[in-house]
Amino acid sequence: MLDIKITRAETLKEKPADETKLGFGKIFTDHMFLMDYDAGVGWHDARIEPYHPFSIAPGCVILHYAQEVFEGLKAYRTADNTIQLFRPECNAKRFQDSCERLCIPAFPEDDFVESIKALVEVEKDWVPHTDGASLYIRPFIFATMEQLGVHASSSYTYCVILSPSGAYYATGLAPVRIYVEDEYIRAAPGLTGFAKCGGNYAASIKSGELAEELGFSQVLWLDGVEHKYVEEVGSMNIFFKISGKIYTAACVGTVLPGVTRRSIIELCKDWGYEVIEGKLAIEDVMKAGHDGTLEEIFGSGTAAVVTPVKELKYEDDTVTIGDGSIGELTQKLYDTMTGMQWGKIEDNKGWITPVCKG
Ligand SMILES: *Cc1c(COP(=O)(O)O)cnc(C)c1O
Repeated sequence: MLDIKITRAETLKEKPADETKLGFGKIFTDHMFLMDYDAGVGWHDARIEPYHPFSIAPGCVILHYAQEVFEGLKAYRTADNTIQLFRPECNAKRFQDSCERLCIPAFPEDDFVESIKALVEVEKDWVPHTDGASLYIRPFIFATMEQLGVHASSSYTYCVILSPSGAYYATGLAPVRIYVEDEYIRAAPGLTGFAKCGGNYAASIKSGELAEELGFSQVLWLDGVEHKYVEEVGSMNIFFKISGKIYTAACVGTVLPGVTRRSIIELCKDWGYEVIEGKLAIEDVMKAGHDGTLEEIFGSGTAAVVTPVKELKYEDDTVTIGDGSIGELTQKLYDTMTGMQWGKIEDNKGWITPVCKG
């Protein structure tokens, strides 16, 4: 158990009046959770303080060498005003794996879940009431040592901030157009693709911007060695339904092991689908698109749960998936996952962690 010192804000911010216009990650709540690490001492001083800017030295490691990891999950409000989390222990474990890769001292899994529960309870009034809106939770750790030599920092800050966020799709699940990136890559064997770290994102922004300029909402990433096999889409995992079977890239170092991904795989197996985690060549996806066996494509991640794909552009070739509307399996996954998260259907998987009554 953490001994958490709570300092409450003297004045509270006004809560957004219209929860349908929240957007994503633009508004922050009144408080943040903090903890520090110092070599020889370990993680110490668990505390909740008013949300405030950091004061960091210009020479500190994070600003130059990006020694940082983060997580992303949500708190949901059910119809009977229970505030609850979805599989936070999975995020806790992944956070440790990310820390290990970035030479950051592991943050204890129990403390991770406890810190989130404590902060969400303090901020429970910020959990939106509107259908589809939730409280986005962003835990992160960054290196604070003042040092320009390229070495692991000896001090760190752990922080959790919260942001009320709207339904990802204001007008329901909108299928998107995807650009297959065949030049830049997101990850390669031995690099940090499996870790949730800021550096991966910094390297991916350019492709995303170029795709947007061309009118696509995301890029589909191919493997970093042969530029041949599908891996992820934007900052989501990706699934293909071809001739009734479900395909997704295996988590073998270059793919981020999504909590949504593993939940979807479990549900699909429960429903009797064959799920193949392995290599799927983009050439085979395009071929399936042309011969009519490509039934559905969707991205998966905490923010949107599932994102249906209606069009794929690869080099000079374009395929449209189905009639361009959301696929049956994609819709069923969305309904099941969000149903559990918002307490509308029973959690028969043990995926829900209640926090408090709101
Ligand atoms: C966070 C993330 C995902 C999705 O993970 P979830 O746990 O399902 O939210 C997928 N790909 C990348 C690159 C990510 O950063």
